[in-house]
Amino acid sequence: MNSEVVVIGGGQAGLAAGYYLRRAGLDFVILDDQTHAGGSWQDYWPSLHLFSPAEYSRLPGWPMPRWTSGFPPASHVVDYLRAYEKKYELPVRRPVEVKSVHRTTDGYRVDTDGDSFCATTIVNATGTWSRPFWPSYPGMREFGGTQLHAADYRVPDSFAGKRVGIVGGGNSAAQILAEISTVADTTWFTNREPRFLPDDVDGRVLFDVASDRARALAAGEADSGGVAGLGDIVMVPPVREARDRGVLHARPMFTALTSDGVTDGHTTERLDAIVWCTGFRPALRHLRPLHLHADGSGIVLDGNHVRGEPSLILPGYGDWTGPASATLIGVGRTARAAVDTIVNSRKVDQS
Ligand code: FAD
Repeated sequence: MNSEVVVIGGGQAGLAAGYYLRRAGLDFVILDDQTHAGGSWQDYWPSLHLFSPAEYSRLPGWPMPRWTSGFPPASHVVDYLRAYEKKYELPVRRPVEVKSVHRTTDGYRVDTDGDSFCATTIVNATGTWSRPFWPSYPGMREFGGTQLHAADYRVPDSFAGKRVGIVGGGNSAAQILAEISTVADTTWFTNREPRFLPDDVDGRVLFDVASDRARALAAGEADSGGVAGLGDIVMVPPVREARDRGVLHARPMFTALTSDGVTDGHTTERLDAIVWCTGFRPALRHLRPLHLHADGSGIVLDGNHVRGEPSLILPGYGDWTGPASATLIGVGRTARAAVDTIVNSRKVDQS
């Protein structure tokens, strides 16, 4: 099957790209491996709430409907993304898993678990959720308790009355610890002291800072570092409440796991379970056949496309692909720039 553009991934980044592709009148298809619309939001733990109000969590074109009070839960985002996809009649095919992408004489061939697609341009919007990162520690296989990644965490019930280690210094760790500590005895392990944002800094402030950074970078000014200098952890209500209960204290990271706990080489702490809140990596395995230009830390981008591949565009992976591009409100800016790139390159081809 042929399309000018194949978008891989039908989460918020894929939909935002679809919005601008439709507006530009391009022929495209979105391939998504989930059974239902909503991207990774449908897999988050049910108690997760946004760190911004609905009006600060909008994709291009149509605002997210207001939430009754406070910040919306993940389920509200899923409903919004489903309605958004319908409203703009975005051509999403699912479930379709992209297995590999190969170069052809005039573009790319996208092989899936069903059909193959040919396209001159790929917008790769696969997010990170399907690639949880597990660090490697001695004794991981010997530990007799439960180990799970934040990607598999749903509710705290199965931890009731247990001793649970939470690993990681980011928002997932703080939020999951806040919840599990209501039913279990928790210990928080981080590589460095957690950096809490001030209570009055939420997604609105973070987006404004990221927008200033995007403007400065576009104007060729020095990189301020954006939100990185402010802190990492947004003090959403459950995290504030955990702090007030006195459970939000981190210990330095252990060095190994034992059969029934963890050790720093001097003392051992017994644990029944460990939740690894250790982040995610971009889900790009299907791009391996392209042998993309990479430095030691991964694929190198020029603006929003892969270096040396002007027709392979990556929106939505966070600062790597554009300030705030991993957020609902920020991904629109990245998606619009991506589609502008495609439209401009067509003009050059036609001239
Ligand atoms: P995804 O939503 O992951 O969508 C990618 C889609 O591509 C998925 O459907 C996936 O299944 C599919 N896919 C992957 N590989 C393939 C393949 N090979 N073939 C076909 N399909 C494929 N953002 C905010 O704006 N506000 C918040 O408050 C907020 N809170 C967050 C809290 C947590 C704990 C986390 C983890 C994230 C939070 N985010 C928040 C960030 C936001 O949820 C993500 O950055 C966002 O969902 C990424 O969107 P995406 O479209 O890039 O990826």
